Amino acid sequence: MNYKDYYAILGVPKSAAEKDIKSAYRKLARKWHPDANPDNPKQAEEKFKEISEAYEVLGDPEKRKKYDVLGSDWQRAAQQAEQQRRYRTRYNPNDFHFDFGTEGTGAGGAGAGAGPTGFSDFFDMFFSGIGRRQGGAQSAGFSQRGQDLETTIELSLRDVYDGGKKAVSLQVEDLCPRCRGTGTVGTQLCPQCGGTGHVLLTKKFEVTIPKGIGEGQRIRLAGQGGAGTHGGASGDLYLIVKLLDDSTYKRKGDDLYVDLPVSLYDLVLGGEVRVPTMSGQVTMTIPEGTQNNRLLRLSGKGMPKVKGGGAGDEYVRLIGQLPISLSDKEKKLFRELSSMRNGKAK
Ligand SMILES: [Zn+2]
Repeated sequence: MNYKDYYAILGVPKSAAEKDIKSAYRKLARKWHPDANPDNPKQAEEKFKEISEAYEVLGDPEKRKKYDVLGSDWQRAAQQAEQQRRYRTRYNPNDFHFDFGTEGTGAGGAGAGAGPTGFSDFFDMFFSGIGRRQGGAQSAGFSQRGQDLETTIELSLRDVYDGGKKAVSLQVEDLCPRCRGTGTVGTQLCPQCGGTGHVLLTKKFEVTIPKGIGEGQRIRLAGQGGAGTHGGASGDLYLIVKLLDDSTYKRKGDDLYVDLPVSLYDLVLGGEVRVPTMSGQVTMTIPEGTQNNRLLRLSGKGMPKVKGGGAGDEYVRLIGQLPISLSDKEKKLFRELSSMRNGKAK
């Protein structure tokens, strides 16, 4: 990324008055308007975009102030801005509107290969997020809905089974409280955000968890994403569900699987066992002559279906436990059983 000398682009001194900047911009915009340069439209378009970008910054007192204080510190500020950019994992360019306002150039729309604003990376990094006061410079305004942001939320099986409200702390991007998003404090680059106007804050949210929500599904917190600019609405914050491993259950879709140790005698002779379920223990009947590792189904004891309409099932895998440390008498009886099976009754 290269530093952009906006004063040089408009051909004005650093001390130029607002009206001089405006007239310099108008003159150059007329000269380089693509319609006025049919012989070299590509170069004209490039120039026109560069001029518009320079004026977008220098024509806005807030942006100009920030630009002036960026100065030689701009690369340090860029590092901080880059951290923030990495945090923004999701961006919807369809929510972005751009127009050249009263200049009437009709050259709206973002250029190919440019950042979300259609301007240079340098501009996007430092200036695209700065809000503009209502009734400020009108000639090159844009409004932008705040970015949709994503972050991960870790939930236990119990959280997801019960659903409902849960207080969570999440790291989210917010307007810098020190400079209120301007990037500057007095004549200095804001020390808290390094001039980006945004900071990462840990915020508490009360999140409503839909019953039965699954791994990778999203919970939307409307209006909790990035702040909009120039009257644009705030974006949304999406929480991607990450399910924590459970010590008892494995989840597959809406069904739950649990391993249950049972005695040899319950498998051979049948019996009743207590089984854990998410809604408390239940009694389950094991039929006589059940094979080891067999799955028994408890209908409706799985996870609630996130779209409503009942619940999945719980599958209980019977894990037979063979008796150990047999007494002499037990050994004798097992030998008798063995002989009977092998047709050598004593
Ligand atoms: Zn700040």
